[in-house]
Order: sequence, then C-alpha cells, then structure tokens
Amino acid sequence: MNKINKNGVYLKLYKTLKKVLPYHTDFIGVLCGLKPVSRIEIYSDIKDKPAYFFKLFGLWHILKKSPIQKEVTFLFSSKSKKLIIKMIESIIKKDDYMIGKLLGFPDCCLKKFIKESKTKNNFSFTKSHKELYDYIKNNKINIAYNDFFAFNKKYFKYSLIRYMPCSYKCHLTEQYVKKLLFYIKRFNNLFEKDILHQLKLPILYFSDEQIGNYIDRQRNAIIFDGKMNQNKVKYKKIYLCGNPNKIPEINSFNKGDSLVVDKWNITIYSKNKIIKNIKKDNPLQGYLLNFFN
Ligand SMILES: [Zn+2]
Repeated sequence: MNKINKNGVYLKLYKTLKKVLPYHTDFIGVLCGLKPVSRIEIYSDIKDKPAYFFKLFGLWHILKKSPIQKEVTFLFSSKSKKLIIKMIESIIKKDDYMIGKLLGFPDCCLKKFIKESKTKNNFSFTKSHKELYDYIKNNKINIAYNDFFAFNKKYFKYSLIRYMPCSYKCHLTEQYVKKLLFYIKRFNNLFEKDILHQLKLPILYFSDEQIGNYIDRQRNAIIFDGKMNQNKVKYKKIYLCGNPNKIPEINSFNKGDSLVVDKWNITIYSKNKIIKNIKKDNPLQGYLLNFFN
C-alpha cells in the first residue's frame, strides 16, 4: 500500500474507484487484510469495469449471479481465489456461519445473528434498536455502530460495517472499525473525513415495533445533513435509508429545514414556520439518534 501511495497512483485510482465500486470500504477491508473475502451486490452497468482495478491491486475477483435472487449479481474479491470459491459454495449451501467468517464478521456478532435468524420471527433488528434506544440515553454512542448508511444503496460507501453488531458494546466491532478507518485514512484522508462527517449526522429512526410480525430488516430512517441540539435538528439535506414507504410525510421532510421531536410528535419547520405536525402512535416511531465519538 505504501508503495502505491508514494507513486500517487492510489489517489488517481480512488477517483475512478469511487465511480465503479460502490461498497469500497469493503474493498479496502480486503486489500488491507481485515476481510478474507468481500461480497458486493452490484449494478449491471458496472459489471465489466472492475477487472482493471483488481489486476492492479493483485486481487482475484469473480462476478456471479446470486443463486437466490436472480436480479442480484455478486462481485467477490479476495487475495485468494480458493476463498472466493469457498464463499460461493457456502452461499449455495446457505452456510451462514462460513459466509460470515469469510466476510470477516466478528464471531460474537455472527453467532448472535445465526441464533436469532433461527427463531420463529426470523432475524429482527427491532430488539437491537430498543437496545440502542435504551443505551443512548446513558452513554455516548461510538461511531462504530452506525450502520444506517448500509441501508441506502446510493450512500452505502459511508458504512464501515455491513453486519448487525451483537451489541452496542461489542469490542470486536469497535476494533474492526478503528482498523478500517486507519487504513482508509492512509488510502485517502479526505475520504476518512467524509465518512466521519456522514456517520455523525443525526438520525430519525422509525421503528416498526408495533406491527407484530413485521421483520424490520431495513432500518427505516432519515439521516439529516445538519446539526442536532437536544430534540431539535437543523438541516440542509436528507438521506433516506431503508424503505422510504415506511417513513411518513417524506415530502414535508424534504421541504423543511428543521424539526423538533418529542415523545408523541414530530414537528417540521421551514423558515421557522410549522409546515407539518406528525403524530406518533408509538414513541419509537420516529426517535432521534446522534452518533459521536
Ligand atoms: Zn460482536
């Protein structure tokens, strides 16, 4: 890596890489030995382009249609061709443990995921959200656990993790993120700054807690490019994460420039005038989260 950096090739590549490899924090993980294999879902229009980069970095890559979802193509990359083949076999066998190991997920998080995905209601993020909600009241939340951007295809380049941590105190997750950020900084310190800025933005999270068996996989939320002060957020721009259909009144959020959230209401303002008041049926349906170091 140093060698590439010194020659200035890395930065040049990075600019093009940004266009062709949406999940490139994952790719950096493989390049730096933090992940044995990277599995990226890609859009059809970039299928042929990555070959050049992988060759330059001395990595293997294989493009393969998902055996489960036909519309998804996976781009696997690794320092070892054998590991990519093992990954494809594990996906076909639905061996979640091996898939997670090959993706470099911590054992504790992986085991919890597998255990929960075998329960009747399938894996649900809801419990974790409740845990997060309770935890945030008494603790400063580490940036390591902000995985909301992973649920927006346009912006997932800002996500440092692509798995659900076993808990908001998971040290292995924290260590992984620290190492990844260290390499990203060496790779391009502007990108590191950009990621840190994005991951510290306030989030309005919509839990589907009350909808019985609904599996809350998508982490429906709005991320505000702005500043949060107690229960008020001033913002310039919004990013939608998860399923936008699960978020009420998106247009009002788009038109607004600030909002106030209390237990039962979300009030949206534009130029200090109320443009919308949304009544909550449940306090968890729209609560503010703020990640910081
Ligand atoms: Zn863990």
